[in-house]
Amino acid sequence: MENCIFCRIIEKTAPSEIIYEDEEFLVIRDIHPLTPLHLLVIPRRHFTSLNELDESDPAYVGRLIFTARRIASEQVGPKGGYRLVINTGETAGQSVFHLHLHILSGRPLISSLITRGLR
Ligand code: AMP
Repeated sequence: MENCIFCRIIEKTAPSEIIYEDEEFLVIRDIHPLTPLHLLVIPRRHFTSLNELDESDPAYVGRLIFTARRIASEQVGPKGGYRLVINTGETAGQSVFHLHLHILSGRPLISSLITRGLR
C-alpha cells in the first residue's frame, strides 16, 4: 500500500533497523521504544488490523506468534520475560494501520503506560 509506512519498510523504500526477516514476516526495532527492548513483528501482507485476518488460516496466526516468541527468546535470553501486544483500532491506541505485533521487554506494563502518558 502506497501510503503505509510498514509497507514501505517491507519494500525497503523507507529505513528501519531490521532484526529478522523471512518470506512472511519482518521484525524491526520500534522507532519510539516504550521499553528497553521494543520490537515489531510485521506481516509482509497488508492487513489493516487483526480484525482483517482470515479465520480460515489459523496456522498463519500461529506462525506470527511463534516468530515473535522465537525472536523475543533470542533477544531476552532464556530467563528474560517479554510481553506481546496487538493494538487493534484507534481507540485501543493503534496508530499504524498495518497489522503488527509488539514485543516489549525490560519494563513492567504500568511504567510503560506512564512513559507514554496514558495513565
Ligand atoms: P501502534 O500504536 O500499535 O499502531 O504501534 C505503532 C508503532 O509503530 C509505534 O510504537 C511506533 O513507534 C512505531 N513506528 C511508527 N513508525 C515507525 C518506523 N518508521 N519505524 C519503526 N517503528 C515505527
